[in-house]
Amino acid sequence: MNPIDQIAELFAGQGAEDYFGEAVTQAEHMCQAGLLAQQSGAPDALVAAALLHDIGHFQGELSGDDLMQGTDNRHSHSGSEWLAQWFGPAVTEPVRLHVAAKRYLCAAEPEYFAKLSEASVYTLQVQGGPMTPEQVERFEAEPYCTDAVALRRWDDEAKDPTIQTPSFDHFRPLLEGLL
Ligand code: FE
Repeated sequence: MNPIDQIAELFAGQGAEDYFGEAVTQAEHMCQAGLLAQQSGAPDALVAAALLHDIGHFQGELSGDDLMQGTDNRHSHSGSEWLAQWFGPAVTEPVRLHVAAKRYLCAAEPEYFAKLSEASVYTLQVQGGPMTPEQVERFEAEPYCTDAVALRRWDDEAKDPTIQTPSFDHFRPLLEGLL
């Protein structure tokens, strides 16, 4: 099966399930993140990263439910590795770093933590809490750290049940252009 169809199936299947304590489904959350990236004028690769950032919840041995029960499912890493079959680092790296970006922002911007949703505060603890100063330094040296931070901010905003959410198909031509 072509990769875009494989991804579309995941959005339609597991993606239709609840997004761990948020007001939107997982697929809506990811499509909203993609839309926010697009509206910000982000390059196609970063729009794709925003759209696909949580794909790791559908991959790997541990699920998002495991994460909500206190076991880190490392979905940023499993998602990025899975996507690397077809996409380059401009897509996979911001995905890999999007959980680190939350831990980074919690350390770098005190006001950021206050804006996190309840579910995000809970998973932050499971994922290692705010970064230490050494971890902050290492994160800032990552070539895709700025993209990962941008993705993280769209991720945090993409939980709005009142906005018109585009379907996965809206992003197909963009994804096809990146394969
Ligand atoms: Fe997310």
